[in-house]
Amino acid sequence: PGRTEILINSLTDQAAEMLKTEATNRNISITREYDPHTPVILSDPAQLEQIFINIIDNAIDAIGKNGSLTIRTLAWKKGVRVLFTDTGPGMDQETMSRIFDPFFTTKKVGEGTGLGLAICYTILEKLGGRIEVQSQLGQGTTFSVTLPAEPPQL
Ligand code: ADP
Ligand code: MG
Repeated sequence: PGRTEILINSLTDQAAEMLKTEATNRNISITREYDPHTPVILSDPAQLEQIFINIIDNAIDAIGKNGSLTIRTLAWKKGVRVLFTDTGPGMDQETMSRIFDPFFTTKKVGEGTGLGLAICYTILEKLGGRIEVQSQLGQGTTFSVTLPAEPPQL
């Protein structure tokens, strides 16, 4: 696990690319709104890509069919922020309070392990970043990942 110089817009594109076919098949459009002036950050690209894939995968599952996912990047404090906004069904407060717990899932047996977001949460803590969620039932969900320009010493 390395600390590598990362261009967040490219890394975000790579993650979205992995799920492009699945999104297209379900008539889900992925829109990118990237800040061209995000700073280079020092982090672990493989782990970050996995985190973004988890979030996008969840968004596609939540939407099911016909909808959109908007991915935004922005310069934030000295680092960056990536926002994933979907047009899925959203979540109630009770669900939202549990999504980062290991093994919490609302998916059918065999379709979800409930580990994706728990792992994202732990990895981001190690990378000095964080993940947050905002959601409104019937209106959709936004996940936000914030990363420092330089991670703490591991
Ligand atoms: P899994 O995908 O295996 O269920 P995760 O940890 O990735 O496990 O997600 C946990 C739960 O969080 C999901 O089962 C779902 O209820 C909820 N969730 C995650 N992302 C979204 C989203 N974009 N919209 C609505 N609910 C979501
Ligand atoms: Mg998941």
